Amino acid sequence: MNKFFATTPIYYVNDAPHIGHTYTTVAADVITRFYKQKGYDARLLTGTDEHGAKIAEAAAKHGKAPQEYADEISEKFKTAWDSLNIDYARFIRTTDEDHVKTAREFFQKLYDKGAIDPKPRLYKGLYCVGHEKFMSKEELVDGLCPDHQTKPVEHSEENYYFKLSGYKKDLEQLISSDEIKIRPQSRKNEILGKLKTGLEDISISRASMEWGIPLPFDKGHTAYVWIEALINYYTYGSQENLWPADLHLMAKDILWFHALIWPAILLAIGEKLPKEIFAHGFFTINGQKMSKTIGNVISPSQLIEKYGVDGTRYLLLAAFPFGEDGDFSWEELDKLYNANLANGLGNLVARVAKLAEKVNFEVTQTTEIFDPLVEEKLTEFKFNEALATIWQDIAALDKKINEIQPWKLEETKLKEFLSSSAIKIRSIALSLTPFMPETAEKILKQFSDQIKSGSPLFPRK
Ligand SMILES: [Zn+2]
Repeated sequence: MNKFFATTPIYYVNDAPHIGHTYTTVAADVITRFYKQKGYDARLLTGTDEHGAKIAEAAAKHGKAPQEYADEISEKFKTAWDSLNIDYARFIRTTDEDHVKTAREFFQKLYDKGAIDPKPRLYKGLYCVGHEKFMSKEELVDGLCPDHQTKPVEHSEENYYFKLSGYKKDLEQLISSDEIKIRPQSRKNEILGKLKTGLEDISISRASMEWGIPLPFDKGHTAYVWIEALINYYTYGSQENLWPADLHLMAKDILWFHALIWPAILLAIGEKLPKEIFAHGFFTINGQKMSKTIGNVISPSQLIEKYGVDGTRYLLLAAFPFGEDGDFSWEELDKLYNANLANGLGNLVARVAKLAEKVNFEVTQTTEIFDPLVEEKLTEFKFNEALATIWQDIAALDKKINEIQPWKLEETKLKEFLSSSAIKIRSIALSLTPFMPETAEKILKQFSDQIKSGSPLFPRK
């Protein structure tokens, strides 16, 4: 059996799940469900990243121990993904015993292979806790981290170093040849461009950070949370015989870690490399950056409350091209929902079901097909185009009904028409399955045997 192993980033537990995490996770779920439908052993790994200064700080702010705090927030992510019908194979936590064990073994291997300097070096730099990384002077704007609007703290400590600089040539070759496929193409070019300017060795440990995994070769240090977190993919993948990952999916801000540092440390221990890394774009909310201060943070539960589970899954991926930057606004989401779900799909299904019910029409043929064009778009992560393809079929059938006016046909002709319409609707449902699994199942059930009218799939807003 072919396998398909996809991952989302593991999310930091310093904050509750919001639309950003939801966007990545829904996309990863759709692609994994698609491969499952094709008969692959397809698995999705998601979870939470729980170590590091940022978590320790957030816990302290809430008067909690880091583990207690991590437990609470991690549960929120799990609940959010369960409520969105995310079909993950494992929800991994970096505080899980098997991950801690695998991470320690991984670091020991790096050390034994000589990929880590044998002795720590003194590092002085400006550290952004929000990013959990050292920032170069060039990255700062007026002395502040441009993303977090905070002043990075001066850090001076002994760190172990991974010899990343030695992997420049290998990485260039692997990425340019698509052995590690980085997509979209623009992101690949960006990474190759950045790579040309050189690679510096990176610190992989912290001396003054207690909330983390102690290095096996020096207990006075904990593993740098970024490197430790990346290993989560390998924790699950190796124990399930799924390694290498077929797809790492993420937002573009963390592509650098996944496209360069992650393959380099895998090369260092002689492991196989991820096949594809896809970075999607950023989005704004009503034209503004999403922030607590502005108060425009959207949570998954808000979306579900308004649009339902499948409505949410649809809207996130239909709104703009995956991989590009975009904008969400409640107004636009409402419009899209009413036009394509309440009308569009919901209306078409209701219309045909009503006609069929009148003449006791029974479905005898179930020769539906998954639209090959939808399949093509999905393998290229063109989610919105895949959906647009399905909606063209919906519009075409709607138009045909308006033209033919089947309610005026005599019964034999009407049944012929219903027969072909039922197959089309079943095909639409089949192609919709990875996106909207519950809705698709409902439609397939409604359009088997004797068709009956049901309650509206998507009540109008
Ligand atoms: Zn920052």
